[in-house]
Amino acid sequence: MSTEVLQQTKETQLTGNKQFYIESYGCAMNFSDSEIIGSIMAEHGYGHTNDEFDADVIFLNTCAIRENAEKTIRDRLKHLRLNKKKNSDLIIGVLGCMAERLKTKLLEEEKLVDVVVGPDAYRDLPKLVAEVEEGNRAINVLLSREETYAEISPMRLNTNGVSAFISIMRGCDNMCSFCVVPFTRGRERSRDPESIVAEAKTLSEAGYKEVTLLGQNVDSYLWFGGGPKVEFKNADDSTKANAVTFAKLLEMVAKVDPNMRVRFSTSHPKDICDDVLYTMCKYDNICKYIHLPAQSGNTRVLEIMNRTYTREWYLDKVKRIREIIPECGISCDIIAGFCSETEEEHQDTLSLMQQSRFDFSYMYKYSERPGTLAAKKMEDDVPEEVKSRRLTEIIQLQNELSLQNNSAYIGKTVRVLADSLSKKSDQDLSGRNDQNIKVVFPKGEHKIGDYVDVLIERVTVTTLIGKAIN
Ligand code: SF4
Repeated sequence: MSTEVLQQTKETQLTGNKQFYIESYGCAMNFSDSEIIGSIMAEHGYGHTNDEFDADVIFLNTCAIRENAEKTIRDRLKHLRLNKKKNSDLIIGVLGCMAERLKTKLLEEEKLVDVVVGPDAYRDLPKLVAEVEEGNRAINVLLSREETYAEISPMRLNTNGVSAFISIMRGCDNMCSFCVVPFTRGRERSRDPESIVAEAKTLSEAGYKEVTLLGQNVDSYLWFGGGPKVEFKNADDSTKANAVTFAKLLEMVAKVDPNMRVRFSTSHPKDICDDVLYTMCKYDNICKYIHLPAQSGNTRVLEIMNRTYTREWYLDKVKRIREIIPECGISCDIIAGFCSETEEEHQDTLSLMQQSRFDFSYMYKYSERPGTLAAKKMEDDVPEEVKSRRLTEIIQLQNELSLQNNSAYIGKTVRVLADSLSKKSDQDLSGRNDQNIKVVFPKGEHKIGDYVDVLIERVTVTTLIGKAIN
């Protein structure tokens, strides 16, 4: 998942005298959580500001997936302490995965923050902030097996009014050996499908044109009345027949509004199934794009990563996707230099990329995370310069593949949902095609939120460039 910082851009939303400011780091789940936090704070009389200097409370909603992400957040917290010198009543809170991982450390040892709250305890935030106002420090990092924030209608903080996230599940049961998520976000829980559909309807009525269903492993979504998933195999036949799988949920959301695109992320190669692929085919408004992290192209490395599939399994999944949905875009996550990875195993990753022809990838050097299985049981023994060189080779290959894939669009027309002005010129609009590739074109009479057919004239590694033809 990407690790960009998104500053809030929408105008201040005032609902109370006191105001909170929030910055989100890391994956889309965190950005989605910040909108739930916004709603909880608003319920308790807090307005939202996008100016940190107007804020009574500053939250950093954090990511712990890589060491670098945590360093960025620590530096930011140190900087925010300076604001506190000017305003001693300012409350600073760290939320999310880094809060869960470090628990009391930021509060007591490093004294960087006043309040620490993990991903399952956001309902407690107003109470914890009130405790801080009374001169205490406050923490709640309890993980839950039930919390999905199902009925909370998120405050759309980062919105362009066009695209929105809908969280469909929380946590992860997979225990990939490099990953800190199962420790910071707890066990997997699916959200009531009726509340998901209701949220999609609300967004459609508000004029949104695209929703992305979010979960750590969406293909594992399963609702059969709210019980823990382990109980499903003992459920009676009628419960099983009425259960909502991810394929069913996708269909329910696609039916809400045929003019509203539906995307989803992230898929796990072990769980994505034909039902999902056929549902994607059945509805024009389900985007033909799958983010399918491989992490490595070598079966031994996949095994020690505890990914529970082989190289062949992964390649078969890609083949199946292309058989059922020939036009489907596929993107990938890749880790360079995982523990004990040899040169030949690295070459397997390159050849898997070549065979799969990913449209784009998120590519990283392995970074050991404390508490994970890999940190406990394996040696981080690939030298830094080798990791860097392997990563460079992976990036170079992906750039070649992306350019080749994008070049095939030249002379073709693609349907684009315009979602912003181009960063380079306010005379151009930017959006994404079905396959999630960025498209830029002169705006003419078109505006953000329009579906536009764009004839592609030239391309770069990351972008299709063309002109509107409708
Ligand atoms: S599937 Fe693996 S990598 Fe993804 S969140 Fe779960 S444990 Fe982490």
